[in-house]
Amino acid sequence: MNADQTQQAIILEDEALRDGFQMETRIFSLEEKLQLFEMLKKAGIPRIQVGSFVHPKVVPQMADTDELIRTLGKQQGTVVSALILNEKGLERALGCGVAHVSMSVSISDTHSRKNAGRPAAEALESMTGLIRAALDAGLAVRAGLQCVFGCVYEGRISEDAVLEATEKMAGTGVKEINLADTTGMATPESIRHMVTKVRKQLPEMGFSLHLHDTRGLGLANMYSGYQTGIRTFDVCTGGLGGCPFVKGAAGNVPTEDAVNMFESMGIRTGVDLGATCEAVAFLEKTLGRTLPGRMKRVLEHQSGCC
Ligand SMILES: [Zn+2]
Repeated sequence: MNADQTQQAIILEDEALRDGFQMETRIFSLEEKLQLFEMLKKAGIPRIQVGSFVHPKVVPQMADTDELIRTLGKQQGTVVSALILNEKGLERALGCGVAHVSMSVSISDTHSRKNAGRPAAEALESMTGLIRAALDAGLAVRAGLQCVFGCVYEGRISEDAVLEATEKMAGTGVKEINLADTTGMATPESIRHMVTKVRKQLPEMGFSLHLHDTRGLGLANMYSGYQTGIRTFDVCTGGLGGCPFVKGAAGNVPTEDAVNMFESMGIRTGVDLGATCEAVAFLEKTLGRTLPGRMKRVLEHQSGCC
């Protein structure tokens, strides 16, 4: 790492309100969602993904995404985004006035059939059309590919399939492509390998990583991504989350642990660790259980008995 890299800020996108909450059976009220949003904003998290436009019968937790976005309105200094998975989702996004959206498909055929009800190639084709429509409508779009680093059903995902999909996504005109390790199968080495390939193929494209900590490699993978040039990472307060279609999947890298890792190395995130841990405390109290992130407990012990 050279000196310039340490000066560069990291951009964290907290997805607890979407990727985290979608797994919870306890339905959070609009007020509770707004409360968590305010806490994350106060902590200085630059991007917050607040929900997804999925069918309320499939994910009841996300049923009030439109209302949440309307209530939040335009937020100074914080990017509010939501996830779109289909045409109906785009309609709803345009209806509630969200300015930033993530639009993603799975690269694994089996995961795509289970998650989106269609083969991966068909899903990609239709999504690139939808992304073009969203861009034409003036939305800021982040394209996303799920299961890039492996799939529990299919094992390794072909590198050519990833490169072909990133090329197709880039052809829509998006400025950022998110590579997701949906099943937590990436290793620091596979991250380095794939990120190097896609950055070489599309040097002008902004890439970001979405890393599930299923096998405990989340932070190691994040650091490998950083060393390979990635500066934007998805995280989840407390490490909340999983995937409804991947049994045993854990949440994303906990926001507070990512902040601690980068800040301890002198790499700026702009996020306040203590304030993030207050958000973790709020979630743990509301859910009545301990979340996987480490730093809240570390700070508690530092100020407590030790
Ligand atoms: Zn995820």
